[in-house]
Amino acid sequence: MILVTNNEGTLGVPTTARMLAAGHPALDAIEAGIRLIEADPSVRTVGRGGWPNLLCELELDACVMDGTTLRSGAVGALKGYLHLVSVAREIMRRLPHEFLVGEGAARFAHEIGATPAENLIEDSRRVWREWFDRTLTPAQKQAWPNIPLAELCRHAIDPETGRDTTVFLAHDNSENICSGTSTSGWGWKYPGRLGDSPIVGAGSYADTRYGAAACTGAGEMTIRCCTARSIVLYMKKGASVADAVLEAVDDMRALKTGLINRVTIHAIDTGGNHKVVAVNGSAANVYWLWDGTGDPRRCPAEAIALR
Ligand code: ASP
Repeated sequence: MILVTNNEGTLGVPTTARMLAAGHPALDAIEAGIRLIEADPSVRTVGRGGWPNLLCELELDACVMDGTTLRSGAVGALKGYLHLVSVAREIMRRLPHEFLVGEGAARFAHEIGATPAENLIEDSRRVWREWFDRTLTPAQKQAWPNIPLAELCRHAIDPETGRDTTVFLAHDNSENICSGTSTSGWGWKYPGRLGDSPIVGAGSYADTRYGAAACTGAGEMTIRCCTARSIVLYMKKGASVADAVLEAVDDMRALKTGLINRVTIHAIDTGGNHKVVAVNGSAANVYWLWDGTGDPRRCPAEAIALR
């Protein structure tokens, strides 16, 4: 058994580890851990308490993947619900689809009785308002929100700087390997922007035969490189988990223009090995590791510069 989460998993890691130790399936344990983080407003881009988009709306994303069936459930740009990870899980359970977004996702969340919530907390509203007052011209304020937003995207903020998006990878004692993610994505993003967290193959991927991977940071980079899927594929082709992650980092070196920023990659294999790398980051990027015995422990990620 193994559990790897990023630092934002702090509030959920004891519960997920306890459940895995008690023999619960990996997806149940991941969902229970992520729900705790989504409900806590002190984690500033997962669920309640996240940073808003340019219009001061909270649009949340999440994904789960069962590496044994290769079923996933993903939800993107959902407003007004608390436990995105559970909505994603129900998409996997109840629908012949893998991914719902926006209004359709909200309709589905309502249909299944998901917990409605006002996820925008007062502090997020205050910070957004200060940005609005400081940044926009009087003419823009007057016309708001009917102004072009594209130019304002340069203010988008990496949630990692606020220590946010969460990713969980787990291998349970029945040999299932699963993944889960939940986030509000980059603050001040263009409305409707999806990062990698809900995109299977980019922000997460799990295959019980080989392992799993999940990423945080600049989702635009891992979407372009299909990072999570690539790592699992490199393992399928015989690479160790460490080499598979380094190969995926190397893929990022081909990225030209666009948003190039920080990405943290987390990966596990079937043999209890793992690798966590902070691309363009530092060892201050910490993650949680529980290896099936004792307490989960915090470890520093290996920092790698792209250039
Ligand atoms: N990967 C997330 C996104 O692009 C953000 C993050 O994890 O920092 O939305």
